[in-house]
Amino acid sequence: MTSKELIQTEDQYGAHNYHPLDVVLKKGKGIWVHDLEGNKYLDFLSAYSSVNQGHCHPRIVKALTRQARKLTITSRAFRNDQLGLFCKQVCELTGMEMMLPMNSGAEAVETAIKVIRKWAYKVKGVPRDKAEIITCAGNFHGRTTTIVGFSTETLYKEFFGPFTPGFPMVPFGDAKAIEKAVNKNTAAVLLEPIQAEGGVLIPPDGYLKQVAEICRKKNILLALDEIQTGLGRTGKIFACRHEDVQPDLFILGKALSGGFYPVSAVVSKKEVLGLFTPGEHGSTFAGNPLACAVAREALAVLVRENLVVKAAELGNYFMDRLRTIHSKHVREVRGRGLLIGVELKQEAGGARRFCEALQKEGLLCKETHDHVIRFAPPLVISKKEIDWAFTRIKTVLETLD
Ligand SMILES: *Cc1c(COP(=O)(O)O)cnc(C)c1O
Repeated sequence: MTSKELIQTEDQYGAHNYHPLDVVLKKGKGIWVHDLEGNKYLDFLSAYSSVNQGHCHPRIVKALTRQARKLTITSRAFRNDQLGLFCKQVCELTGMEMMLPMNSGAEAVETAIKVIRKWAYKVKGVPRDKAEIITCAGNFHGRTTTIVGFSTETLYKEFFGPFTPGFPMVPFGDAKAIEKAVNKNTAAVLLEPIQAEGGVLIPPDGYLKQVAEICRKKNILLALDEIQTGLGRTGKIFACRHEDVQPDLFILGKALSGGFYPVSAVVSKKEVLGLFTPGEHGSTFAGNPLACAVAREALAVLVRENLVVKAAELGNYFMDRLRTIHSKHVREVRGRGLLIGVELKQEAGGARRFCEALQKEGLLCKETHDHVIRFAPPLVISKKEIDWAFTRIKTVLETLD
C-alpha cells in the first residue's frame, strides 16, 4: 500500500483525535525515522520526549526481546523477578523511598492525586472529601476526565464535563499566588517545572525553590509532573534539579521506557506512598516484568551514554545558534537542554506551516499552542547532526514568507 492509501484507511477507520503531519513512518534508528517512500527525517519531537534514548535503541531492543521470550505479565496477583529491582533503581535515581508503577502518564498523575488525597485525610487531617490540590494555568497533565477538568485549554475539556472539584488554579510562575491560594484543606501543589505542552514556558528563576519552601512551611506536598521534562531532557536528570529542589512526589513516564512501552511511575516518600493498602489501587499491566525489564535498560542507557550532560551541552550550543537566525517571524527562542521552543509572532500565520516546510527539508517537528515550534530531538543526537538541522531550520525561518 502507498502512503496515500494508508492515510485514507486510517482516516476512514480511525477516530480523528489527532492532526498528524502526513508522513507515514515505518522504521527508526537513533534520531532518524524513515517513511514508506524511503525518505529519511530527523525526528525533532521524540514522541513528546518518549525516545530520549533514540529510536529502537539496540540495548533496549535486546532487553525487550530477551524478557519477551521469558515472561511478559503476571499481574500483581503474583510477584515477578523484575519489579523490585526496577523500583529500587528509580528510588535511587530520584532520592526517594518508594515507587508505584503505572502505564501511561495520565494514570500516574491520577495515582498521585489519589495518594495525595489519602495523605491529606490520614496524615494532615483534612476533613474527608475536602482536600484541594493547587494546579497551574496552562498545565498539561494528561487526558482523563479528572485531569482535563483542571486544564485551561477549552479544546481539551469543553465537551467532557462534569468535572471533579478540588483543583484550585493559579497562574504558572507566580509563587505568591500559590501562597495566597493555600488554605487549611490544601493537600498539595501539582505542577510541571517547565510547561512543555503549554509552549515550553520556563518559570522565573527561583520559582520552584519558593514553591518548595511554601509547601514545607504550610505542610503541603509538592508533586512535580516530570513526565516530559524528566530523565535528561532539560540537561539535568530532572528539571527541578536546576534549582536543587527535591519534591515530595515525582511523576514520571515517557522516556522511562525509552519509548518502547507505556511505563510510568509515582515516586515518593514512605510517608506518602506507604499509605496505599492492598486493593486500594492498581492496574492490570502496571509493573509487568516486560515493562520493568525495558524500563530498567532505558534508565541504564541514560546513564551509560551520559545523555544528561549531552542534553545540557548540545542544548546550549543549539539555542545559541538558533538565536543567530534573522527571521521576521521569530519572537523568542527559549528552552533548557534539548527542550527548545521557538515562539513565532502572531503575524507569522501559525507554526504549523513552518513544520510542514521543515518536513520537506527532512525534519519532523510539531507545533505546540499554535505559535511555538518545539525542538526536542532524541538526546543521542550529535553536534554534527544539530548543525545539519540548524542549516535547514535557518533556511525555513529566513525564507518562508
Ligand atoms: C505526556 C504528558 C502527560 C500524559 O502522559 P500520557 O502518557 O500521554 O498519559 C502528563 N504530563 C505531562 C507533563 C506530559 O508531558
